[in-house]
Amino acid sequence: MSTEEYVKFIFSRMVCSCCDTQFTPDCVEIIRVEGNCAIVKIECTTCHKNYGIAVVGIETVGGEIDENVDYVSVPDLPAITFDDVLEAHEFIDKMGADWMKYIPKEFKNEQID
Ligand SMILES: [Zn+2]
Repeated sequence: MSTEEYVKFIFSRMVCSCCDTQFTPDCVEIIRVEGNCAIVKIECTTCHKNYGIAVVGIETVGGEIDENVDYVSVPDLPAITFDDVLEAHEFIDKMGADWMKYIPKEFKNEQID
């Protein structure tokens, strides 16, 4: 299975949040594949909701795909509310020049001081 086929397979296991239709490989436009990363554009072909562009990292390509395994797991979290969005806006507004302190150490490259 090529990287392109693999990415299309992964997304075709997902459902459009707007119309509840399962994505088809046609919903996924591969813009670029570089190493184990693919840049893809997702649009529901049923209701035409545009999900924008995503960068997808692939750990392994090749071998057999088990159709019964759920490769895409979405945490079971409550829906984002209007208040959550306001709170996020306020948080971002108050962020100072030291915003990097919110990024966990393991995600930072070497400090530039
Ligand atoms: Zn849709």
